[in-house]
Amino acid sequence: MIHPYSINTLFMSVPIQTILKETFGLDAFREGQEEIIQSILSGHDSMVFMPTGGGKSLTYQIPGIALDGITIVISPLISLMKDQIDKLREKWISSVCINSTISLQEQRDILEEIRYPGESPIKFIYIAPERLHNEEFLNVISKVKIWLIAIDEAHCVSQWGHDFRPSYMKIKDFIKMLRNKIPTTYDEEEYFPHDKGGQGGYIIPIIALTATATKKVRSDIMERLGLSIIKEFIYGFDRKNIVILVREIAKKEEKLEKVAEIIEKTPGSGIVYAASIKNVDEVYNYLKSKGISVGKYTGSMDNNSRESAQNDFMDDTTRVVVATNAFGMGIDKKDIRFVIHYNLPGSVEGYYQEVGRAGRDGKMSIAVIIASFADTKIQEFFVENGNPSAEEILEFYDYLYEDLIDGEWKGKTIEKTYAGMGHESGIGNDMKVASIVKILEKYKIVSRGIYGEQNPTAGFRGKGITLLKEKRTHQYIPIDWAHQTMLKNESTSKLNAIKKFLFTPQCRKRFILTYFSDITDLEKLPKNCGMCDYCMDQKKGIVRERPSFSSAEKKEKKTREKKQVGRSQKTDTLEETLRLFREQKNLSAIADERGVTTQTIEAHIAKLYGRGIITIDEVSKLTSLDNIEYARDIIEKKFEGKVEKLREIKDVIEGEGRKDVRYFDIHLAIAMMEKEGK
Ligand SMILES: [Zn+2]
Repeated sequence: MIHPYSINTLFMSVPIQTILKETFGLDAFREGQEEIIQSILSGHDSMVFMPTGGGKSLTYQIPGIALDGITIVISPLISLMKDQIDKLREKWISSVCINSTISLQEQRDILEEIRYPGESPIKFIYIAPERLHNEEFLNVISKVKIWLIAIDEAHCVSQWGHDFRPSYMKIKDFIKMLRNKIPTTYDEEEYFPHDKGGQGGYIIPIIALTATATKKVRSDIMERLGLSIIKEFIYGFDRKNIVILVREIAKKEEKLEKVAEIIEKTPGSGIVYAASIKNVDEVYNYLKSKGISVGKYTGSMDNNSRESAQNDFMDDTTRVVVATNAFGMGIDKKDIRFVIHYNLPGSVEGYYQEVGRAGRDGKMSIAVIIASFADTKIQEFFVENGNPSAEEILEFYDYLYEDLIDGEWKGKTIEKTYAGMGHESGIGNDMKVASIVKILEKYKIVSRGIYGEQNPTAGFRGKGITLLKEKRTHQYIPIDWAHQTMLKNESTSKLNAIKKFLFTPQCRKRFILTYFSDITDLEKLPKNCGMCDYCMDQKKGIVRERPSFSSAEKKEKKTREKKQVGRSQKTDTLEETLRLFREQKNLSAIADERGVTTQTIEAHIAKLYGRGIITIDEVSKLTSLDNIEYARDIIEKKFEGKVEKLREIKDVIEGEGRKDVRYFDIHLAIAMMEKEGK
């Protein structure tokens, strides 16, 4: 029987607690879950940020089961889809998937079943974003009652997410299409109550889920899904049973020994992440020589070897797996006791996602980064070579097209290795050549492999290149340069964040919770978390200065600065800040874009104000003029106008109970006085 539905009445008729208990066999919700479900049930669009393993899927599955109608789950990973569907089917909940693993005929059968439901109507459709705009699918979907759309791994919609997928851009249109469809029958009119206020169209709540909750990703998701009012839920980033440690070790032998030591001391199984295939082999061979039960997993291994490495780890045939970051997606082993990073991870997001694979059973586990200052250099090398400049791309373009004239194209192929081409073109290492080729391939200027050959394999490292387009003058080469620059800035700011995580002597947990804006957990975090190396040291009375590798960084920075032409560099950096500021960007956005701290940008602003380039009106939008006046007053009265150490001024001001007066205000007060010649 068909019921015209209203979200509230149905909610009342099927208590979510009953589903939790009877379908999922759980007694209580985890933190946040119930609130999120209520938000969906009252028709709100919601964004859910929880770390992997935090219980995200339950938040859309329970309302999906409670209500009459179909839930569409957009998911990028076939293995995750399969996993979810298997679990739902075990609970006798009819679910299907539409992705590249099913044939056209299978898809037709599924669509038929959706359109004309039998005994147990389909409740969940898991679909890959690439399939959303399939005509047959749209045709059927527009005739049935869809009541909820869940977008899993929603960071894929954001260019700031670590896993951006162009096909995720289509989701916005899909949502719009469903919300704006015109009912064709009376029944449908009843199925889909119009949203009287707000966004118009049908009420189809959207729930976007991801483990990446940085500010940039959050605002990007909203914008790209075309949602204007959305409830945010950020929970569970404090993985309370995971101890977070950072160990500074530079020498290779000592690093290897440390890895073995941790493995020997920690019972149970674990993962060692390394940054490159070479490093994976290094660790793997060492652990093997120590008699540790170990397997390895890298993206360059063939499917069979990868699968057997994974299976061996899952069923405890091997205790440890050494892997690149290719390992782990869809791995749901509950009793992983340790995750070791043999090299510095490339981003806080990636790092924490990998850490989150430990301790899913709630038992104590540890995560250790074994890194050194030199490791940051390796990551910088990756960023540098992974993001070639426009000049380098064009130089390589000229090399590829050198014996052609403008407008000419002969389907030319170049049969050389990347290393060879790197040498001949003057670009340098093969990694950079590979990055350039990838970019040229993305813009359909070249293709990897020799014309007429079958698809080059994934691990392809330079069997040649085929030119796909005629030679053009540089300005007509169809590359989105702004986008390329953005990608580079993104990688740089991510690397800066993980460096900050390593180098700043502070509670690791506090850093992570702040990074992911998990206010709920942040408020509950004790001053000494007792679960990270910094807090543990502090408890023992060890006062941590800046870790030694930070002074190494400083030293390097100093020599670098000395090499530069001091003054002119400084002017440029002010100009750059001014340019971004004039683009109406806020200070933290400028800081992110420039890869420096907000404090630095604030100091720039104060200087620009002091030089009369930025007006007092502009300044008043950034801070309270009252605060500046107050700081000025203190400097004049208590320091007789002489400024030596900002810290001292700040201390006096704080002593007066004015914690709201910031360094920024003090900088501005000084600039103001200098301006007036005081
Ligand atoms: Zn701590």
